[in-house]
Amino acid sequence: MSTDTFLQIVTLLSGLPIGRVMLIGGEPTIHPNFLEAVRTLKKAGMDVAVLSNSIKFEDNNFLKQTIEAGVSGIMTSIKGGNASDYLQGTGSPSAFTKVMRAISNIEASGTPHEVSVTVCESTMKSFADIIETVKTSWARRFLVDTERPVLLSGGLKPGNFPDCAKIAAFLMSTYPALVQSGLNFSIKVSIPFCHFPPSFIRQMREDNHLASGCQMINGSGLIFDPAGKLLACNHLCENPLGTLGLDFSDGEGYYAFRNRPDLTGFYKRMGTCPDQRCVECEHWTLCGGGCKLHWLCAGANELLGQYSEKGGKP
Ligand code: SF4
Ligand code: SF4
Repeated sequence: MSTDTFLQIVTLLSGLPIGRVMLIGGEPTIHPNFLEAVRTLKKAGMDVAVLSNSIKFEDNNFLKQTIEAGVSGIMTSIKGGNASDYLQGTGSPSAFTKVMRAISNIEASGTPHEVSVTVCESTMKSFADIIETVKTSWARRFLVDTERPVLLSGGLKPGNFPDCAKIAAFLMSTYPALVQSGLNFSIKVSIPFCHFPPSFIRQMREDNHLASGCQMINGSGLIFDPAGKLLACNHLCENPLGTLGLDFSDGEGYYAFRNRPDLTGFYKRMGTCPDQRCVECEHWTLCGGGCKLHWLCAGANELLGQYSEKGGKP
């Protein structure tokens, strides 16, 4: 992202009731103006958090500069639970060790911190190692996310059709190990809840381990790509809603843009039940039918059939 685009975004945000900005990537910490960007946002009155692979925070000095610049929360996204996973994913033999050092540095700094992992084909294979790694890293919070499809301009990203049933079966089999680990964890479920028996959803809710929610349902949050294009969600990365500087530049312009019939229509459709079975489902508020992008990969009966209370098996 260029400095110009970044400053235009800050001007826009200053005219909107937005209190928190999350810097995501790619990898935000390797941007040459990362620290300056944090300072600018902080000066504009924002709370600044960063989602990072955290490799750069292996350097305590860089971590210190980041905190001094104004970052008040870090989320470390981990890609595996051992050196060989990281070698395969990053090509770097030292990446795993660096991330482990970084986590320990961040925890020691006292900065609010969460370690996150996405359940997908590759992480499922070494999840026992991932749990052990997070446990030994002394991370205070652990977020388990579930893989979601990505929609590019030409259609769904090839090879990225998460198997919801497989993810559900995996989460159910891994849940006892997560509980036994003693970690302070949440599972962000973005697959339709009716892939789980109702008793499992109840259990996660009672244990306070269930997180969910698609920002497109309530239309909250603004996401900008590096060119200043506004995205409804970062998995719709080549399908922007509009462009900063063309469609709007300040808070007032943004509200006018957001109230356009095509925009309100889009968000209305996103907040609508995707299937009749969802309409009276007791889980609708939390589940919302799961990530809407799963619906581009699979049909209603595949997504809702197994345990839905209307029309599926009990
Ligand atoms: S019926 Fe719809 S709202 Fe209910 S659990 Fe299934 S996907 Fe979620
Ligand atoms: S559609 Fe919703 S749940 Fe799916 S990736 Fe986008 S914001 Fe997340």
